Amino acid sequence: MEKRYFADYETCITEAKNLHGGVCAGIVLGTRMTMIGLERIGITDPKNADRKKLMVFVEIDRCCADAITALTGCRPGKRTMKVYDYGKMAATFLNLETGKAVRVSTKGKRKQQGGEGGEMPDFSKIPEEDLFIVKDVNVSLKPEDMPGKPLRRVVCASCGEGIMDARDVEENGETICRPCSQKKNYYALA
Ligand SMILES: [Zn+2]
Ligand SMILES: [Zn+2]
Repeated sequence: MEKRYFADYETCITEAKNLHGGVCAGIVLGTRMTMIGLERIGITDPKNADRKKLMVFVEIDRCCADAITALTGCRPGKRTMKVYDYGKMAATFLNLETGKAVRVSTKGKRKQQGGEGGEMPDFSKIPEEDLFIVKDVNVSLKPEDMPGKPLRRVVCASCGEGIMDARDVEENGETICRPCSQKKNYYALA
């Protein structure tokens, strides 16, 4: 059976291009990843009828994330996009209504990739199965990870700053934030 994507590639790539300001390899890959992911979890109208059913987990803070934002409407500010800084061209698409989740990642070694000093391949032309790994996954979300009002807000006993959404930790009987727990110095973020 032929796959029914929520929109055709041309429409999708144009939308992604408009948000990102151009079409690059990450935008092409992110666009295709989104089309595959939404098809597999049964989302057909991500920005309208299905907008409350979708959450995405992006594993890279690069161009690819813009394509996913443009096509899904998911954003960190809506709590519908979680960004993990793993440096991997991969994303998980979760249907909040059915619980079905699929992770779409790009293969590290691609069949048709140019060799040393070779040109960047046209990722829009490479068959899906040569480019991506698509796997059903389980995502367990806590109530404090969901969109909506914050369920919890506390003050860090060490730095005095507020901490939302149960991201605080208990240490030596005190409630503190993760950076304080990890002795992070904000003037040297890394
Ligand atoms: Zn780009
Ligand atoms: Zn703190």
